[in-house]
Amino acid sequence: MSHLSPVLHQATPVVAVRGEGVHLFDAAGRRYLDFTAGVGVTSTGHCHPRVVEATQRQAATLVHGQYTTVLHEPLLTLTERLGEVLPPGLDALFYASSGSEAVEAALRLARHATSRQNAIVFDGSFHGRTMGAAALTTAGSRFRAGIGPLMPGVAVAPFPYTFRLGMAEDEAVEYALRGLDHVFATTSVPEETAALFVEPVLGEGGYVPAPAGFLAGLRERADRHGILLVADEVQAGFGRTGRFWAHQHHDGVVPDILVTAKGLASGFPLSAIAAPTGLMQRAWPGSQGGTYGGNAVACAAAVATLDVMRDENLVHNAAEQGRRLLDGLRKVAATTPEIADVRGLGLMVGNEFCRPDGTPDPGAAQRAQRAATDLGLLLLTCGTHSNVVRMMPALVATSGHIDEAVELWSKAVYAATD
Ligand code: PMP
Repeated sequence: MSHLSPVLHQATPVVAVRGEGVHLFDAAGRRYLDFTAGVGVTSTGHCHPRVVEATQRQAATLVHGQYTTVLHEPLLTLTERLGEVLPPGLDALFYASSGSEAVEAALRLARHATSRQNAIVFDGSFHGRTMGAAALTTAGSRFRAGIGPLMPGVAVAPFPYTFRLGMAEDEAVEYALRGLDHVFATTSVPEETAALFVEPVLGEGGYVPAPAGFLAGLRERADRHGILLVADEVQAGFGRTGRFWAHQHHDGVVPDILVTAKGLASGFPLSAIAAPTGLMQRAWPGSQGGTYGGNAVACAAAVATLDVMRDENLVHNAAEQGRRLLDGLRKVAATTPEIADVRGLGLMVGNEFCRPDGTPDPGAAQRAQRAATDLGLLLLTCGTHSNVVRMMPALVATSGHIDEAVELWSKAVYAATD
């Protein structure tokens, strides 16, 4: 009998048969509070009626209008609608299906546009699993060990991971920017550097928001050296952090290329890069494409997602509920010595588990995550050492859902650390 490859690892034993809002249900009808949202994907909740209606209608009209063959209405509408939420100037869009593909598209564009080869990433970065994106990924050995040789031309600079560095925010930013300057002076000279790839909130690397000043420092260096700044907003973008884009927490900073996926289409596979037209024009003709990019049903889902986000004020809700979640989790941590740091932006919150000597404690994090599953709260871990339990519910989460999650989390933590 055939079966799923053992290479796939499931964080929970749940077999989901139905989803509704922030809940998943198994075959026995057991209800789970889903604070994973399909790894930050189902932004409007599972099966939002307006997304379901729009995609059903689209599926009955045109499923696949391959975009290097024909154009289709959902793709054109989505492109126009994204213009309303994208930072000014980022007016040209290219679509793909997954985050990794979009990251590769950004890299391709950056190399063409600058005629330079190198990329600089930041320690703890996650940009995907395809070979180019994996080369840009430093969040953990599990994403790159044993599959090399990976793409050359990637240098790694420090990320201002304040807690891990044991520094104040200003100090961590200064340290990280000095580290970047050191990379320019040693391994990737500016004249050979096409792009800096940054997640405004480290995702798989541990849910670490970049402190104030870091992105501005990157912007300044990118401008000074003619390097492109790529914001990977695959996980942190699309309203999750309480601003439409996570880089918008950093006043005045606009990336040259913005990468989006996940929350964009409420669960349908869709990703995009946005950049100024003048920059996109520097890509070599025919160098970007793909069979499934900008799929019609996925684009219809994205248009409906934008409608729901606007009409239900979901970006504001993410900011408000995120604060409530952070407050609640900090109270739990205050009585749990194993939880050494709680941090986040909007509905992207991490609980970092450490041993008394300050070293990462993945065992405690995993016990808490499993205990939460047993209690009906679905969570994931992240971080280089898998010692951070992350919470990223759909943006439709209410105060009631947040309070219920905090309550279940407090029980799970108690059960796991007792
Ligand atoms: N960039 C970031 C920041 C991500 O979080 C992810 C996925 N976790 C990716 C890129 C890759 O996206 P995908 O899995 O859709 O290829």
